[in-house]
Amino acid sequence: MANDKTALVISAHSADFVWRAGGAIALHAKLGYEVTVVCLSYGERGESAKLWKSEGMTLDKVKTERRREAENAAKALDVHDIQFFDLGDYPLEIDRDAKYRLVDVIRAVQPRFMLSHSHYDPYNLDHSHTTKIAMECRMIAQAWGHNPGEKVLGAPQLYLFEPHQTEQMGWKPDAFLDITDVWEKKKQAIECMEGQEHLWHFYTNVAENRGNHFRRNSGGQSGGRAAKYAEGFQSVYPRTVDEL
Ligand SMILES: [Zn+2]
Repeated sequence: MANDKTALVISAHSADFVWRAGGAIALHAKLGYEVTVVCLSYGERGESAKLWKSEGMTLDKVKTERRREAENAAKALDVHDIQFFDLGDYPLEIDRDAKYRLVDVIRAVQPRFMLSHSHYDPYNLDHSHTTKIAMECRMIAQAWGHNPGEKVLGAPQLYLFEPHQTEQMGWKPDAFLDITDVWEKKKQAIECMEGQEHLWHFYTNVAENRGNHFRRNSGGQSGGRAAKYAEGFQSVYPRTVDEL
């Protein structure tokens, strides 16, 4: 029987899933989830400055390098499947065919939950554009009239992972995930991103701060859990519950 514990990460560029959701990916893999990652682009133009500073660099070489890094990071996080759409970045443009391709992935995976970027990002329109597309493709995947006969998508939550320069993004977490148990895996994945070494310390620091918020929100000094590292998420859709 197919594994019904599945999750889907939609990442604008090939490294975003690592900084922002690496812990969630590794943790759910450990819990038996098959986590699929779709990278819409390699971030070859806008997020590869270090590579572009070396002599004789070309767009193809940057893409190959970024792909290698992302595949290594995915391995470190126990990603089930990573797919590269190679749509280009800065700007990231997604036409109807690319949307349908993403819908095909969503329907094939049938994720229990999805992960993508913040709604708003004035520094990086590729990121907020990706979230809009994730919502649009989730909607199409739910439509009975789209490729009738295929299994229609249910209503997986879409969690927005933490952006860079958090305060500028209007991003407000409503869930903290304790990733202490898998921190070493996330650290290993972060260190696969050789082209963005300047971010390694920054994202360790973010995880520690979110660990503090996990401790505080799980009870603080009156019985909170001693999480050392955490990731924050903002959910888009309401939860349906029988008890609060
Ligand atoms: Zn990015």
